[in-house]
Amino acid sequence: MTKAPESNVRIAAALRAVERAESYAAVERAEAYVAVERAEPRGAVLNTATAEKISSEFLDAQMALSAPRVLMSELKILLQTSYAPHEKLMAIVQKVITVLRADAGACFLTRPGEMLEVYASIGFPRDGQDMPAIGVGDGLIGDIAAQGSPYFVPDLQARPETAAPRPETGMGVFKSFCGVPVLRSGRILGVLSIQNKLPRHYGEDVIDVLQTVAIILAELIVAGGIISRKEISSVSASGQKPNQIAGVSLGRGLAIGTVVLYEPPVGMNEILVDDTKTQKMRLSAALASMHDAIDRMLNRNNGLAGSESRDILEAYQMFARDRGWLAKIEATVEKGLSAEAAVQRVQNETRARMSQMSDAYIRDRLQDMEDLSNRLLSHLVRQGGQRVSDTIPDNIILVARSLGPAALLDYDHRRLKAVVLEKGSHSNHVAIVARALGIPIVGQCRDVMGNINTGDQAIIDGDNGTVYINPSEYIIDLYTKSLESRASRSKLYRRQVQQQSVTADGTTVQVMMNAGLMNEIDSVQGTGADGVGLFRTELSFMGWPKYPLVVTQAELYGKIMDKMGDKPIIFRTLDIGGDKPLPYFKAPDEDNPALGWRAVRIGMDRPAVLRTQFRAFIRASRGRAIKIMLPFVTEVAEFDRAFELLEMEKNRARQNGILVPDKIELGVMLEVPALVWQLDALLQRVSFVSVGTNDLMQYMFAADRGNQAMRGRYDVLSPAMLAVLKHIADKCNAAKVPVGVCGEMAGNPLEAMVLIALGYQSLSIPAQSIENIKVMIPTLDCGKLRPYLDYLMQLRVHSLRERLLCFARDHKTHIPAVI
Ligand code: PEP
Ligand code: MG
Repeated sequence: MTKAPESNVRIAAALRAVERAESYAAVERAEAYVAVERAEPRGAVLNTATAEKISSEFLDAQMALSAPRVLMSELKILLQTSYAPHEKLMAIVQKVITVLRADAGACFLTRPGEMLEVYASIGFPRDGQDMPAIGVGDGLIGDIAAQGSPYFVPDLQARPETAAPRPETGMGVFKSFCGVPVLRSGRILGVLSIQNKLPRHYGEDVIDVLQTVAIILAELIVAGGIISRKEISSVSASGQKPNQIAGVSLGRGLAIGTVVLYEPPVGMNEILVDDTKTQKMRLSAALASMHDAIDRMLNRNNGLAGSESRDILEAYQMFARDRGWLAKIEATVEKGLSAEAAVQRVQNETRARMSQMSDAYIRDRLQDMEDLSNRLLSHLVRQGGQRVSDTIPDNIILVARSLGPAALLDYDHRRLKAVVLEKGSHSNHVAIVARALGIPIVGQCRDVMGNINTGDQAIIDGDNGTVYINPSEYIIDLYTKSLESRASRSKLYRRQVQQQSVTADGTTVQVMMNAGLMNEIDSVQGTGADGVGLFRTELSFMGWPKYPLVVTQAELYGKIMDKMGDKPIIFRTLDIGGDKPLPYFKAPDEDNPALGWRAVRIGMDRPAVLRTQFRAFIRASRGRAIKIMLPFVTEVAEFDRAFELLEMEKNRARQNGILVPDKIELGVMLEVPALVWQLDALLQRVSFVSVGTNDLMQYMFAADRGNQAMRGRYDVLSPAMLAVLKHIADKCNAAKVPVGVCGEMAGNPLEAMVLIALGYQSLSIPAQSIENIKVMIPTLDCGKLRPYLDYLMQLRVHSLRERLLCFARDHKTHIPAVI
């Protein structure tokens, strides 16, 4: 059988290796390779599997010696040629095959509609052009595109699902496969793959080389016109672009502005370099200027001092000096990459790792690292005299896949109007900082980067988690009016907001605020809130890098109490687990975290969690009265146990000479339906009840509060929900136990109108809603609404919303629009 010339070259190399090898094992490896390449019978010494394994090891060993060096210098020459981009692509694939001793190779590019098409293929039995497009997530190539990380299969036959006659597996001709994603700024542009006819365990060196080539391909694809920028941004979009994207509200508020896509300024001039020394010098100069800029930025934002946001940003500052990260970049420069290419290469690897992590804490940390990479790139690019962005609009809507916390501080606060993220959750650092700065933020907007461009107009509705892209005149008008009326209402009602709220028929209502951050406490006075009805202590825990000491907690709670002065505050004990994992507190993997080990249940099993928090509250109080609330109580026994732990802590404090307040009120959040049927026993024990309607609604209707598909499916203003709320209020009022609502529903004027009429005289709501509620209350006549509500609750209808709106209109109850 005649062999391909490449094979002869490889055999010659193997024979030379046999001569040179010092050890028995090395000789055996090279000989086996020769035998396999020549398809000779291996005699009695080696069986086929061993020979193939040995020969694959030989291939890698050979390759490791010379591949990166050879490839880099050859690619450098190739990139300087005047070949057309597509020819360059073919030539690169050819070089990769030769240097990595593969039998075939291909480059697939992502096309609109989540499909991958082959653009260059060599060594396949079928012409690449005949290969059908592959869906993202489909087969080996599709999987690499979907996951964004490298993948190899040493023996396709051992994996029947991949050995099926598919184009990327070479119709059964090839026995092994290795591919890497072609990434640019986190976007999948394609996949580069190689194949061998024999089983081959592709080593790290092979993947390393392929990843470096993928960086070059990414630049070539974009710069060389193989795929246009427009196409790249529509890569993940299928069909027509939507003009509205539903996400999740991570920070309330409205904004209208011009989109700025947050992208690292990659414009690389060079990818492969000879002079690594110069690159290292450039890298250290860029690092120095980046460190300097981060330090200055943090100093400029001293307003966040003492807050969780500050802690987060300081941690970020520390990461910027992370030795491991810098060492990895330097090592990549050593391989012959420019400083920019090295940063990007390390960033791609980090990103691929990030997507595999299920731990929210690690993901947040890696996200910070990604943000730092972008920042470092921008400092490197600036060295070349390139500008990061041309024109920055006045009203910026910053749109990103994900962001680190410091990215927000790059922009002038007065100009940054809103943030939109493809990913993101409530506990993400960027969300915490955005809320602290009062910037509306919407997360989990699927494919937003592919559907929006810099310069587009957008409306961000942070209250409802919606993004409108290039909205119609009608929508713009609606939101402009809403923004204007918010602004003018603020002026008009400034006095009213500072007064006590009393209904038209004389019921006094306490309008409290929900908070979780120090800077929100700073704003309590300005909002006109009567106090804080729910302080979510877990938010500070999310910002702390490790489980805080009692003294750390006590210091925070003490500061908060000082700032509150005479105004009441209810501290909620840790409500972690479920949708709020605590990074450093390992929780079990649960199929249903919302129904799992969370909130007070953790305190029952790990009493130290509750005890240390009680200890901190007592210490922080310095004798002042305190109100503490337990989340997620499901049975009375849990309250009893928590009460016992609090008593233990009081005794302990007394023994240690610590001042213990005369009045410590311990209450519960009512958010689990089972507790509704234990109210008689519960009300004999608790100091107060606060209804958490967010969770109560979720468990009543068995509808996940974070699930988009469930959004708006059931209405809180339904007969069933109102009947439960009335039952709770009646029981509490009869037992003379103060009762309030602290779920989001109380922040909507129509819902608040109903709650007050049902007997809730304390509402704790987001700061942005206070004005609306305070405007509504004096126009409400509870005496008239109550009998009507009794009637409505008898109806068997999906929602009472329309009827209640009619009531409000007929009785001149002012319901400010919440859009
Ligand atoms: C609630 O469940 O209504 C509530 C206020 O608590 P959280 O939203 O923090 O779960
Ligand atoms: Mg809750």
